Amino acid sequence: MSRPVRVRFAPSPTGPLHIGGVRTALYNYLFARQHGGVMILRIEDTDSQRFVPGAEEYILESLKWCGIEIDEGVGAGGPHAPYRQSERREIYLKYALQLVDAGWAYYAFDTAEELDALRREAEERGEAFAYNYAVREKLATSLALPADEVKARIERGDQWVIRFRMPENQTVEMDDLIRGHVEVNTSTLDDKVLYKSADALPTYHLANIVDDYLMEVSHVIRGEEWLPSLPLHYLLYRAFGWQERQPRFAHLPLLLKPTGGGKLSKRDGDKMGFPVFPLFWTSPTGETARGYREDGYFPEAFINMLALLGWNPGTEQEIFSMQELIDSFSLERVSKSGARFQPDKAKWFNAQYMHHKSDAELAALFQPILRDHGIEVADEVAGRAAGIMKERATFITDLWDLTSFFFTAPAEYEEKQTRKYWKGQNPEILRELRDVLASIDDFSKENTEQIVHGWIEEKGYGMGQVMNTLRLALVGAGKGPGMYDVTAFIGREETLRRIDHILATLKPAE
Ligand code: GLU
Repeated sequence: MSRPVRVRFAPSPTGPLHIGGVRTALYNYLFARQHGGVMILRIEDTDSQRFVPGAEEYILESLKWCGIEIDEGVGAGGPHAPYRQSERREIYLKYALQLVDAGWAYYAFDTAEELDALRREAEERGEAFAYNYAVREKLATSLALPADEVKARIERGDQWVIRFRMPENQTVEMDDLIRGHVEVNTSTLDDKVLYKSADALPTYHLANIVDDYLMEVSHVIRGEEWLPSLPLHYLLYRAFGWQERQPRFAHLPLLLKPTGGGKLSKRDGDKMGFPVFPLFWTSPTGETARGYREDGYFPEAFINMLALLGWNPGTEQEIFSMQELIDSFSLERVSKSGARFQPDKAKWFNAQYMHHKSDAELAALFQPILRDHGIEVADEVAGRAAGIMKERATFITDLWDLTSFFFTAPAEYEEKQTRKYWKGQNPEILRELRDVLASIDDFSKENTEQIVHGWIEEKGYGMGQVMNTLRLALVGAGKGPGMYDVTAFIGREETLRRIDHILATLKPAE
């Protein structure tokens, strides 16, 4: 019988959420929605050393911006609250002790200095120190010390940890929904710390397993960096006797550098000029990092791009709405190998979403930029200008450069264009064209075009010369859309005003 789908995104608040983490959250969300399941947000903040203030708020805001909805967890509540591990601290000791009682774990009293010394000695022998079956019965542990001494040490307040007693030379057989069957020999694994008396907190491994169990998680979908922990997690389920309720696991491939080798890092982004975080981030010490939101990406485009980094739909389709992603996503089509991040592809996605936006949507996004430039126009006008030029834009911020001439007369005339067109007969022809334009009542694009073209042909003027001279007058440069888009947009009075202005102020070249 299949269990109700309950998945969790379980970030640690140790800094800004990397886009790889956003992708993990997204795949969990798509999986939950597709199966009518529940998406949980659990904050794994038991490592007080690595805790960064502001990181949790950043995670919540990032998920919200991306449209990844949380059904249960931090910020949403739910039947298994609290969902912040630091607020669940009383829960874990009981489980750690249960493992000690059952012989699956033991107390260890080694101090940090003693462990350092052991590491150094091993290094001198050219080995790496491992806390495992070979040493646990020789060190200050409850496996080596007499029971009354263990008791005495605990009672007098010595610091201790509880370590997992990793079995020796056993094969752990695991199944991963992406990687398939995996086997590991336990002799290659060490005795991980599960609980520390120093801060009365569990480590990641214990808290993660206990909470997944208590929160009835059915599928664990997480980054590949956790695959090496999987044998321990399997054994913890066995040690607790929870195999029946063990979740299924899926380990997602890494996001790789644009050049291929290695994990995508902030350094790569800084070097090549792209963000690796969803939102702008300021650390408590004042360091900052760029974000997709502040760089002008649409959340839909960002999500679409991320979804395809590591998952392929098996078709040529590239543009997916969130609903389409929910409908088509499958863990079977997540690749085993790392997905190379392509900054240009991110831009391409943004441009696609830009081109599909309606004038009304564009207006809402463009108006604040217009206002910054001191332009007050109706939404309809802002949207129409953006709509004419959107095919050439990647970001909303591109729109001002692309459309400013719709809203303001040229403040100056580009030198190159002036030299090319503001010479010879052209100023005189523009004066004639002015009179033609002044006589047109219906200033619509089509009508103006028809009349002006007819006139140019009748006069035998060069089409390019006339249109470029007019462009210089109206736009001030050699850029912009079709000339009749400009005339229709700014209207007859403004068209004539701009022509009069260039005739009165600009000295012909030569
Ligand atoms: N807290 C872990 C992290 O930050 C979660 C790993 C897991 O999902 O089990 O990635």
